[in-house]
Amino acid sequence: MNCDRCGAATEPEDIKEHGGKKLCEDCYLDAVSQVKTCDPWAVHLAKSDKVRTGVTLTSRQEQLYNLVKEYKEIPFPEAARRLDMTEEEVRHEFATLRHLELLKACKRGDLVLMTLF
Ligand SMILES: [Zn+2]
Repeated sequence: MNCDRCGAATEPEDIKEHGGKKLCEDCYLDAVSQVKTCDPWAVHLAKSDKVRTGVTLTSRQEQLYNLVKEYKEIPFPEAARRLDMTEEEVRHEFATLRHLELLKACKRGDLVLMTLF
């Protein structure tokens, strides 16, 4: 199989799905760790919100943030299990928290972990 983004030949078991695309591991990590670098306005909005009102998080975002704070580093599937959310939901909340520069993704071996920004 080939990665939908960079076209690299990738073993089917290493292919990760993200946003409906089949990505190699590098592109996947890139996709989960960088939220829309092509959309500076969203980042700008997230930042100005933070400055103007302080960080107002939904209860789910707060739960996720607190969990990452507690564990320092936690993979998406484990966070999903602990918060009783799907991985997709965790990714969605993570994307917002990444925008707010509260959380970021890092890679440890084969695992993508969420950690404090
Ligand atoms: Zn790729």
